[in-house]
Amino acid sequence: MGRGDVFVISAPSGSGKTTICRRLLDRVEDLELSISYTTREMKPGEVDGKDYYFIDAEKFDKMVDLKEFVEFASVYGNRYGTSREMVRSIVSRGLDAVLEIDIQGGRKVKEALPEAVLVGIFPPDWGTLTRRLVGRGRDSMEEMEARLNAAGAEMRELLSYDYLVVNEELEKAVTQVEWIVRAHRLRRDRMLGRAQKILMR
Ligand code: 5GP
Repeated sequence: MGRGDVFVISAPSGSGKTTICRRLLDRVEDLELSISYTTREMKPGEVDGKDYYFIDAEKFDKMVDLKEFVEFASVYGNRYGTSREMVRSIVSRGLDAVLEIDIQGGRKVKEALPEAVLVGIFPPDWGTLTRRLVGRGRDSMEEMEARLNAAGAEMRELLSYDYLVVNEELEKAVTQVEWIVRAHRLRRDRMLGRAQKILMR
């Protein structure tokens, strides 16, 4: 069985990243989301084991000690980590893994797995970003301030990603990320085995 690839999707909060990922997973076959571990509180509507694995700081530290994370980071005071076993289990089944993680995480994943594909999502402009954060109504004022302040720095860092998508219109952005995944599946190293078989007649 072939080995799948790792696609990292990062964006400042309010860029529509979660929605884009969800739609991408509905639309593209053989793609699976890597569910992260976090120490943050579960928010209304979230499900343990679906949105995240919600764990306490002690368990998180233990996983760090046991080197169970490909990468882990503190984001807005909470800790988040990508499980090595989860990513391994996805790609070893020949599926592609989607990691919806922040920009520091993306950089660390690229160091650990240089063939990972980094996709950055940009909001179309600052006004839209602010409106989306306010409209979501999920965060406190302080959380929102922090997210807006962090957004500029995050977007500058996204400039080093492999692909950049501007989420001006949701459907278009999902389609563009879909193209990235599908084009990547046609790269020489992934097609080589099949092409060589054809050559053998
Ligand atoms: P939220 O608390 O809003 O779900 O996520 C906050 C930020 O943490 C988002 O940018 C999200 O992508 C990021 N995040 C979620 N899981 C991980 C992870 O496993 N590692 C890293 N580095 N960031 C993560």
